[in-house]
Amino acid sequence: MRHWLAHALRQAVIELRPEALLGAAEVTPDGFYADFVVERQLSTEDLPAIELRMRELLKAGFPRAVEPIQPPDALGLFDGRAQPYQRELAALAGESALAVVHHGNAVQLCAAPELCAARASVALAAALEGFELRSLGGAYFRGDARNVMMSRIYAWAMPSKVELEAKRAEFEAAGLREHKKLGRELELFAFDDDIGPGLPLWLPNGTAIRDELERLMRELEFDAGFERVATPHIARQELYYKTGHLPYYADGMFPFMQHPGDPEAAVFALRPMNCPHHHKVFAAKRRSHRELPFRISEYGHVYRYEDSGAVSGLLRTRCMCMNDAHIYCTPEQVVPELLAVLDMHRQVYAVLGLSEFRIRLSTRGDGSAHANKFVDDPEGWARSEAILRDVLVRSELPFFEGPGEAAFYGPKIDFQFRMVTGREETASTLQLDFAMAERLDLSYVGPDGQPRRPLILHRAPLGTHERFVALLIERFGGAFPTWLAPIQARVLPVGEAYDDYAKQVQRALRGVRVRADVDPSGPTLGKRIREAAVKKIPNVLVVGERELASRSVAVRRRGSEKQEVVPLVELQQRLRGAIDSRSLDA
Ligand SMILES: [Zn+2]
Ligand SMILES: [Zn+2]
Repeated sequence: MRHWLAHALRQAVIELRPEALLGAAEVTPDGFYADFVVERQLSTEDLPAIELRMRELLKAGFPRAVEPIQPPDALGLFDGRAQPYQRELAALAGESALAVVHHGNAVQLCAAPELCAARASVALAAALEGFELRSLGGAYFRGDARNVMMSRIYAWAMPSKVELEAKRAEFEAAGLREHKKLGRELELFAFDDDIGPGLPLWLPNGTAIRDELERLMRELEFDAGFERVATPHIARQELYYKTGHLPYYADGMFPFMQHPGDPEAAVFALRPMNCPHHHKVFAAKRRSHRELPFRISEYGHVYRYEDSGAVSGLLRTRCMCMNDAHIYCTPEQVVPELLAVLDMHRQVYAVLGLSEFRIRLSTRGDGSAHANKFVDDPEGWARSEAILRDVLVRSELPFFEGPGEAAFYGPKIDFQFRMVTGREETASTLQLDFAMAERLDLSYVGPDGQPRRPLILHRAPLGTHERFVALLIERFGGAFPTWLAPIQARVLPVGEAYDDYAKQVQRALRGVRVRADVDPSGPTLGKRIREAAVKKIPNVLVVGERELASRSVAVRRRGSEKQEVVPLVELQQRLRGAIDSRSLDA
């Protein structure tokens, strides 16, 4: 049904926008989408007319015909019709079965004729009742940022009206958790036109979360034998030619900069990744095999020139701070190091209560299609991919393969999380790099006194602050456990007479490093309790005569109406304990 609806969507768009160029169309777990290049941008106001036309088409028996076609004939057909992307998709289909869907003057490619054939069994009434065009987005043709950006129309399609309504309700509930909305309401981050798109300002509340995550990683990395480094955010442009990022990734970098008064005319680049800087840390002195594995980490800032149309909240930004680290090791050390990193992933996900993700082994796939995209060393690829596959199996982690998703210097393991919008994002990666040591001439002295190339692991269990905090906001619906909450406790005096005592309580808590604030009397207590609930503060402490007299507070936990009077000294210990243990339940 969804496949058939996706064809109808493309037909409707072609009829309403005859200039439209068709891209890909796919069925999703709850509907379908289709991509288009159009002259005048599509807006959500266009969706009702498109949906209406789809309904008319379906009632009128769309499509007129579906005919099998041989791939070479498909190429010719789309040549004649100025549909370059349909032609390219037909060319990519290789030997697989293709069909052409005809209706009116329009034709479109069908890459799954068996699904088209199945439409005969679908009840028209159910199909009409169960679908809805819901939103617009952008997507690069074939998912590659060097290709044209297309408009994507998303739709839901459920087997019945009841299920569609349930889907809508679920979506609305999820929308309340959406990171952009909560980020604004909880004052975590902001954007400003004078700063620029995709450049988040982390407000004090959001920064508190970042700091907690960094503290967590610093501890785990210390325990795992990492040493911290700090490196500049810029480097000479030549560095990126040496690494091979330039010229191919120039579009993804900020424009280069050159000081007009510089007699050496050096050109600098804002770094799009931390790796080369770390490699230079490795190269800063002669290294012996006895120093390996050499593990260095840094929460490092990187800058990428995302398309201004593609930037979105914290998920697509132009400035990111990455939980980066690189491990330089011998071939014998690779497997134990990879296993140790996977173990660290397990630890951090357990601390954060993250269990719903998929692991993707991103390989080169058929590299021939992207000669420029991957380093040319078939043996190196085969060996590295086999190593990663093996450690995943040994770690007993279920995974799927993502051909063509590798980094250009090696395969990687990606941790994929689904956001409330339904979109899947890579939140963390672990990469095995067999190529960069050669390019940057990195070496260590082996036991025989001869220079050898190290292997390099790139890892970032918490990805970037931007993307990971977005994920955590949605994971917790903004109701962070005490250790991660920006404001861990708020003191509410019942009246003016207790404002001073409230401040004393705040000082006592800050004295044991608890992020506590005071909402002084003025507005009614009920109003201030509601405000604390809106801000999702985990511990609300009400103080009045009884509490003042007994040096205690009345604790209300988030989401509960119950109050429990607790001596201040005990509360200090209790909150400290919840924070130190990083409890998910406190
Ligand atoms: Zn089809
Ligand atoms: Zn790296």
